[in-house]
Amino acid sequence: MLVVALSALGCGTAGPTERTPEGLPQVPPAGDRGDRGGPFDTSRPEIGNLDPDLLEAIRAAARDAQDDGVRMVVTSGWRSREHQQRLFAEALSKYGSEEEASRWVSTPDTSAHVTGDAVDIGPTDADSWLSQHGSDYGLCQVFANEIWHYELATSPGGRCPEMWPDSSARH
Ligand SMILES: [Zn+2]
Repeated sequence: MLVVALSALGCGTAGPTERTPEGLPQVPPAGDRGDRGGPFDTSRPEIGNLDPDLLEAIRAAARDAQDDGVRMVVTSGWRSREHQQRLFAEALSKYGSEEEASRWVSTPDTSAHVTGDAVDIGPTDADSWLSQHGSDYGLCQVFANEIWHYELATSPGGRCPEMWPDSSARH
């Protein structure tokens, strides 16, 4: 009887197959996983290694920005020490001195990217959106010369602290 039932199932491919899996939402929530290159693609280490609270905040902000027609992209998140060292070395050759380079790129010892506590956001209209709404999520621009760099620096709905002129001023 079991064998008969199985082969009967195996033949049942001729009819219309409009069945959809039960219980699955037809439309996934906006900005959920699978958004390659977006703030939700946790398969990328630079996203997956972010501080969970920061990731949650940026996810929520990106969802709401999307509702306003603004697409938010994490252009840089967590970085390994080696990656940060490379960036600093590049800045050093570009700016010529450690003092000037550190205004733009932190060392592995001081970068909030290395600890997973910072994200760089683009494009520019997303940065503008965040400058207006970021504090609702606790997200703040912390360096006056980096409109793309955000950290969790206040509680949601709180006031962002005064910005540092650049990253060398904080350390
Ligand atoms: Zn940054």
